[in-house]
Amino acid sequence: MEFLNHDLEKTALSLLEKRGVTLDDIADLVYFLQSKYHDDLSMEECLHNVKRVLTKREIQNAIITGIELDILGEQNKLQEPLLSIIKRDEGLYGIDEIIALSIVNVYGSIGFTNYGYIDKMKPGILERLNDKSTGMVHTFLDDIVGAIAAAASSRLAHRAAHKNSDERKGDK
Ligand SMILES: [Mg+2]
Repeated sequence: MEFLNHDLEKTALSLLEKRGVTLDDIADLVYFLQSKYHDDLSMEECLHNVKRVLTKREIQNAIITGIELDILGEQNKLQEPLLSIIKRDEGLYGIDEIIALSIVNVYGSIGFTNYGYIDKMKPGILERLNDKSTGMVHTFLDDIVGAIAAAASSRLAHRAAHKNSDERKGDK
């Protein structure tokens, strides 16, 4: 089982990389979401939280499932009508968002707000993934990347809140 977990994480990480998404790209999104709430937020801290989120099996499963469907769509290896739905990134499909929510879910409610916001703003790598002119299919990946950033932001926010309340306790 130990080996299987390790393998899953390695596979998820290499799939992200293969599809042109670096951990730094995701850390940039975390910075975008969180810098206004933490005065001295560093990129290292953002990256650290992204890496921690990616150790979760639920999240690795979402990554490998979504990216696999994108790749199959790109290679025309799905049956209709799913093929056209995924290739066109059909707005009413919604399963890409459900997979994203399964990522966000792991770290609680702050993640939902962050995911909704970043999905609307589409900063950085998300703008690139939404560029339909490349011929690549990123129907699932854009939501997955936004969701990883939202989950990492949520993790970061919860940790910061704990740290602050510990400091306050220490003051007493
Ligand atoms: Mg999508």
